[in-house]
Amino acid sequence: MAGQPLTTAQLDRLDAATALHLSLTGGCPACDLEPDEMCVACGLCNCDRHDTCVRPTDTTTETT
Ligand SMILES: [Zn+2]
Ligand SMILES: [Zn+2]
Repeated sequence: MAGQPLTTAQLDRLDAATALHLSLTGGCPACDLEPDEMCVACGLCNCDRHDTCVRPTDTTTETT
């Protein structure tokens, strides 16, 4: 039975596990943000607006 899409119950379990993981590690389950993805400037997640924050240089940014 491989390749079957996850059932709603499985997704709920997965979601709950992710939320628990995020809350335990200091992330935000509400907006599904890992702790290292939180704003470095103010520590807020995507639940709050912090447009004035200067976003840190993305490590994935390509250098030219
Ligand atoms: Zn911020
Ligand atoms: Zn959040």
